[in-house]
Amino acid sequence: MMNKGLLIIISGPSGVGKGTVLENVLKANTDLAYSISCTTRQPRENEQNGINYWYISKSEFEDNIKNGRMLEYTVYCDNYYGTSADFVEKQRHMGKDVVLEIETKGAAQVMSKFSDAVSIFIMPPSFEELERRLRGRATESEEVVQKRIATAKKEIEHRKEYRYIVINDKVDRAVDEVLSIINSERKLKNI
Ligand code: 5GP
Repeated sequence: MMNKGLLIIISGPSGVGKGTVLENVLKANTDLAYSISCTTRQPRENEQNGINYWYISKSEFEDNIKNGRMLEYTVYCDNYYGTSADFVEKQRHMGKDVVLEIETKGAAQVMSKFSDAVSIFIMPPSFEELERRLRGRATESEEVVQKRIATAKKEIEHRKEYRYIVINDKVDRAVDEVLSIINSERKLKNI
């Protein structure tokens, strides 16, 4: 029987640059299947449905929850975010390693269901740097930024629940570290 693919969780506070790290990891390792999350938040200017997220309504999301279609979900800054169980299971059964980019509450749900999940927490080099990066994203109001700063502080407290911590001091270095974690986990799985 084919070995099931790895379930890889990537978390980190908003503004840490995990999107950029992940984008480069997926470019370097085209064998990975990225799980596109569903969300009820509005798309940002540069985002597209079916690429960054599936943007759905609150009632659709609640329907998915009721019908057991979510592998995990959470409410983050007043919006629902969640992972489709069907996509992840299908990919893993085909032997594909699946990457979830999710926040800490959802990650805890996945880790409790799948003790073999490969969990990676991306940390900023310092909290000051994180705040600077959050303010640099000028698309959001001060109220939203303040909320994200407070949420980021809480998220960082969960870093020790993860199997690996990667510091995003330089994107290329962080990308190499994530790639080498995935490669060594692939080897371990096949022993
Ligand atoms: P953003 O609004 O900045 O795209 O994402 C906000 C937070 O939601 C980020 O920490 C991101 O990792 C998290 N997130 C994105 N998709 C999911 C998901 O499917 N499930 C969970 N639990 N969190 C998610």
